[in-house]
Amino acid sequence: MVASPSIAAPEVVAPEPVAPAVAPEPVTPEPVAPARFAHADVDPDNDAEPGPPAPLVDCEARLREAGVTFKPARIGTSREVDGIPRCGAKQVVRVRRGPGSIKYSSSPLLTCTMALALADFERVAQEEAERAFGSRIVGIDHLGTFNCRDMALYDLVSEHSYANGLDLRRFTLANGAVVDVLKHFRPDQAEPTDAKSRFLRTLANRLFDEAVFSVVVTPFFDSAHRNHIHVDLARYRVDGSRP
Ligand SMILES: [Zn+2]
Repeated sequence: MVASPSIAAPEVVAPEPVAPAVAPEPVTPEPVAPARFAHADVDPDNDAEPGPPAPLVDCEARLREAGVTFKPARIGTSREVDGIPRCGAKQVVRVRRGPGSIKYSSSPLLTCTMALALADFERVAQEEAERAFGSRIVGIDHLGTFNCRDMALYDLVSEHSYANGLDLRRFTLANGAVVDVLKHFRPDQAEPTDAKSRFLRTLANRLFDEAVFSVVVTPFFDSAHRNHIHVDLARYRVDGSRP
């Protein structure tokens, strides 16, 4: 038996820390802006290109990070007229629950980007509900998300054709109060005269101003929207939240 020569592992020498001549200034890290309120399409160059938002590679991870419980879903994408998609979207989810713990009258079926925007919407809506009523929203009645059609009053593909829009009709609060767009928005009054009207208008203003959605249309806009607030992620922007 020949003893194999033992080879000493080379000693790893840590370099002596060099004391800085001057103590470094404590650096306050720049606050990182949370990734919210950024889903509106603010690019003016693509406004005339209809179609759902481009699919996101990390959609599901981003939804989970945003606190959204969801199920992947599929809708048809068959209709195309003159190269323009008329109906459907490639990346769609059914939202079960968002970070604001709001129960919807039916689980919204939305493009992934719209589902991310819904998470931001819930945060803004809960902030405004707490400010206005000292109570949180527990339920929202909506009039639907996915419906292949042109806009009711315009010759344009509705974002509902791409599951990229949502119609908000009624909010129920934890304290039992109900805020109904048809009853409480009061577009005939330039200034809101009660808390419910003020809540609806402030919410709509913030959803547009903070770019939660590309398009926010309220009863101020036209009679087709007298009973709901329409929000979507079109590639163009419309502020219908003001008289
Ligand atoms: Zn709508």
